[in-house]
Amino acid sequence: METKTIINQLRMKMGMSQEEVAEKVFVTRQAVSRWENGDTVPNTDTLKLLSELFGVSVDELLGLTGNSVCQCCGMPLNAAVVSSEKDGALNTDYCKWCYSDGKFAYTDIDKLIDFCAEHMASAEHPETEVRAYLSDMLPKLKYWRQRAEKS
Ligand SMILES: [Zn+2]
Repeated sequence: METKTIINQLRMKMGMSQEEVAEKVFVTRQAVSRWENGDTVPNTDTLKLLSELFGVSVDELLGLTGNSVCQCCGMPLNAAVVSSEKDGALNTDYCKWCYSDGKFAYTDIDKLIDFCAEHMASAEHPETEVRAYLSDMLPKLKYWRQRAEKS
């Protein structure tokens, strides 16, 4: 589920108007309306206030379930590692190591595989095994699929 739907549903469940939520988290009613329309996502500080107001975790507000992974490197995503845009709005598709300041850290899938293989390899999972896994898994992620389509 997307953040816009989650915020809308939690607000309805609490029986609050957009004005009431806005007042509690120190934003304008228009800001709440933009979140619910999916135009913007609350920034980190506001998410914390919303999580207190609604009694749910920030991960839940962002729609990050245990199944959410970075669409570039495949690492599990939660509120602590999620990326953000230049204006501070969170981008829940990517981790902060793959995407920051509007730019992607990796444009070459082989470089990412090199980097991950080095860090993920262990006695239990030798580098060749990790590489095989990454070579299979990474191209299925959104970022690499989009790049493949463009080229
Ligand atoms: Zn990543």
